[in-house]
Amino acid sequence: MSFASQNFSQDIVRALTECGYEKLTPIQQQAIPHARRGSDILANAQTGTGKTAAFSLPIIQQILDKPKSRSRFNARALILAPTRELVAQIAKNIEDYTKYTDISVAAVYGGTKMSSQEKKLEPGVDILVATPGRLLEHMELNNVTLANLEFLVFDEADRMLDMGFITDIRRIMGDIRNQPQTMLFSATFSAQMNKLAGEITRKPKRISVSPENATADTVAHVVYPVDQERKRELLSELIGKKNWKQVLVFVNYKETANELVKELKLDGIKAVLCHGDKAQSARRRALDEFKEGKARVMVATEVAARGLDIQGLPHVVNFDMPFLAEDYVHRIGRTGRAGLQGHAVSFVSRDEELTLQQVENLIKQRIHRVQLTGYEPKSRDALLNKIHNKAAYRDRQGRTNNPAADQSDAERRARLRRAVLNKSKVTKLKK
Ligand code: AMP
Repeated sequence: MSFASQNFSQDIVRALTECGYEKLTPIQQQAIPHARRGSDILANAQTGTGKTAAFSLPIIQQILDKPKSRSRFNARALILAPTRELVAQIAKNIEDYTKYTDISVAAVYGGTKMSSQEKKLEPGVDILVATPGRLLEHMELNNVTLANLEFLVFDEADRMLDMGFITDIRRIMGDIRNQPQTMLFSATFSAQMNKLAGEITRKPKRISVSPENATADTVAHVVYPVDQERKRELLSELIGKKNWKQVLVFVNYKETANELVKELKLDGIKAVLCHGDKAQSARRRALDEFKEGKARVMVATEVAARGLDIQGLPHVVNFDMPFLAEDYVHRIGRTGRAGLQGHAVSFVSRDEELTLQQVENLIKQRIHRVQLTGYEPKSRDALLNKIHNKAAYRDRQGRTNNPAADQSDAERRARLRRAVLNKSKVTKLKK
């Protein structure tokens, strides 16, 4: 199904052709006809399926169909997304789609100056893409009004809820006076999500391009069982031996990310960092270096990597298994996008086996295990012994090095002695 057959204006079709889009992706085939008619939409769409175009093209076309002169601080369409990267990505896509029109697009997100965003908002914008927190700041300063909003989109809505944006969302909704066409896109649907969807949409068309909580078919999943302390070595070995050229590595903590980048560099592998403590400009630089192939590895934490669109990314590695099984779906969604083949590798230590099980239940798929010789995890007994020895060592260290520990230990013994003495006194009295 071509875009021209969907009655999009020549200006849109021309821009899409330049983006290399020929046919509609499945989510676009399902969403676009309903969205063009103005229906609310509830879409279960995983990342990388072409959902940005699915919600933005119908909005762009409707704005072109009903041109209005801009009024100060006014926004006609609002797209909410959880992270700066995703907001920047969506805004960039929409700018590409609208390059032959006079539709204006503004992106607002934290980590950059308010003033430059304020300037863009002042004359009024057609399409505003925003993170909830920064949008509220602008709303409080009266830099933008949503009173006449005509279109509202929640992208990666599940992530917005996970990140605790629900209060911000409710405050934003409180400012909207009319009933905009509302579209909600989410890779996963929890009870809380369904509740929110019920509150903000009217008779929505429900669409789904894959079974709930599934990952793209184009991704091959592999698990390497390995002890936590051997993961770094395993990563360097796989990158070197298999000659992986572009690898996005997910870790759970910023500290792990910093450490890992240093270690990889020592192994001669150029790696860049993408985590929440890095300034927006540094994150963008890292991403550019990674996209251009100047760095072979990008080590990222979950939140920072949200919404990253790296064309043709071949490998994603879960250095740490995510805390939430749902996050596996999002992480893996960075590869195997737009029909290309992807490779998802997870390093699973003994204490992450439960998460692996939860992931397999969620994606309804058993992931193939590959045991690399020399990296066999220690047996459970050895692990327990190690934990025991570590505890005993810490205990000894604590007693010798830590006066506070000594003191509390002495106090505890004294309390115990007093209690025993009192008890014997009571016993004597009773007698
Ligand atoms: P998204 O799910 O919106 O992040 O899109 C994933 C990737 O697919 C992006 O790189 C888009 O530019 C690309 N894409 C979206 N729609 C199409 C299409 N109809 N044909 C080819 N690529 C597309």
